[in-house]
Amino acid sequence: MYDYQQPDAKGHFGIYGGSFVSETLTHAINELKTAYARYQHDPEFIAEFKSELAHFVGRPSPIYHAARMSREMGGAQIFLKREDLNHTGAHKINNTIGQAMLAKRMGKPRVIAETGAGQHGVATATICARYGLECVVYMGAEDVKRQSPNVYRMKLLGATVVPVESGSKTLKDALNEAMRDWVANVDNTFYIIGTVAGPHPYPMMVRDFQSVIGEECLTQMPDMFKSLKMDATSGDMQPDAVLACVGGGSNAMGIFYPYIAHDKTRLIGIEAAGEGMDTNKHSASLQRGTPGVLHGNRTYILQDENGQITETHSVSAGLDYPGVGPEHAFLKDIGRAEYVGITDKEALDAFHYLCRTEGIIPALESSHAVAYAMKLAKTMRPDQSILVNMSGRGDKDIGTVADLSNADFYCRPSCQGQSVKGAEQPIHLVK
Ligand SMILES: *Cc1c(COP(=O)(O)O)cnc(C)c1O
Repeated sequence: MYDYQQPDAKGHFGIYGGSFVSETLTHAINELKTAYARYQHDPEFIAEFKSELAHFVGRPSPIYHAARMSREMGGAQIFLKREDLNHTGAHKINNTIGQAMLAKRMGKPRVIAETGAGQHGVATATICARYGLECVVYMGAEDVKRQSPNVYRMKLLGATVVPVESGSKTLKDALNEAMRDWVANVDNTFYIIGTVAGPHPYPMMVRDFQSVIGEECLTQMPDMFKSLKMDATSGDMQPDAVLACVGGGSNAMGIFYPYIAHDKTRLIGIEAAGEGMDTNKHSASLQRGTPGVLHGNRTYILQDENGQITETHSVSAGLDYPGVGPEHAFLKDIGRAEYVGITDKEALDAFHYLCRTEGIIPALESSHAVAYAMKLAKTMRPDQSILVNMSGRGDKDIGTVADLSNADFYCRPSCQGQSVKGAEQPIHLVK
C-alpha cells in the first residue's frame, strides 16, 4: 500500500498544477475553493450527489468480462468498466452533476462550458436542463463540424452553442474563450470544466467527482473474480493493470485515483499517437511534451521552442488536446503510472473489432484503451487480468468511422445542410 496525499493546499501535485490565473479571476477561484471545501464532506451534498448518480445516471455502471475478446487474444482476461452505459453515453456526466450542484448552492444561474467532442457540452446541457440553469457551450468551429449530432443534441437540451473561430478551432481555443467569458461574467456565472485541467481546485475537484468510477471497481472486481472462480494474481482481488485513454485525463484519474494505493496494480494511460509518435500529428502531451503553463496550471504541454502551443491531431476529438491534467504529469514523474500511445489506425481497428466481437460500439477515445488492452493481453497469461475504462459509447463517432471506411452512411457530407421543411433547426435527412 502506498501513501498518497495530493494535491497540497495550493493545488500543487509536486511541481505541477497550481493556479495561474489573471487577477480578474482570483475572486471567482477563491469563491469556488471555499464552496468546494464547504460541501465536499457535507453529508447532505454527498447524499444528493449519490442519489443523482443512481437515479439520473444509472450508476453503478457494470463491469463486463469481454470473454470472446480475451479468448481470441489468448492472454489476460479483459474486463470493461461500462461508463458508456451512463445517461448521455460517457463518464462526463459524473462531473457535471457535481459541479452543477455547486453552482446551485453558490447561487449562480448561468453555466458556461467548453467542449471538444461535444460529450462534455451534452453532459453540461443535460444537467442544466434538469436544474433549470442557463447554459452556454463554447466549441471549436472545427469540432462543430466533426461532431454535428452532439451540437444538435445540445440545442435540443436548450443550450446555446458558440462556435469558436480562433486558433486551430478546437478544444484549446474553446477553453480560452470560456475563460474569457468567465472573466466578463464572474458574478452570475459558474464555469464547469470538463476534465482534470484548469486552475486549482478544478483538477482535484473533477478527480474527486469522477473517482466514483474507480471506487465502484474496487468493490466490483472481487465479485467478478469470485464469479469466474479466478484467483486474482495481484493478490488483493484487483486487476493486474487498469487502462484508460487520456485526453485531459478525467476518465483516467477517475479510475486510477482509488487504485493508486493498490501498488500491485499497474496504471496505464493511453494517449493519442495520431499518425505516429514520431510525426508531429499526435496529441501525446505526456510522452512528447515538456513542462509549461496552459489553461491555469503547470503540466506537460505540446509546445515549440518559443513556448507556442503546437497543433495536435487525433481521429478522436476528445483526445485532441495539447495539455493534460497536472496529476498525470505528477504520476508519470514519480513512476506510479505509465503512459503509452495508440495510433488512429490502431484505434479504428480496435473500434471495429470490439463492435463485431463483443457487440459494443465504443467511443473512438475509448477505442485507444481497447487497442492497448489487446496488445498487452497477448503478453500476459490467462490467469492475469486487465480492467479497461470504457469511457463512452461510439454512437457519436459512426459518421467519422463511416467516412474513414468509405462506407455508406445516412449523413455523409453530401447530405449535410439539407433540412426538413417546417423544422426550426436544420435536421439532416435520413435517406
Ligand atoms: C471527453 C472524453 C474523453 C477524454 O477526456 P478525459 O478527460 O481524458 O477523460 C475520453 N472518452 C470519452 C468518451 C470522452 O467523451
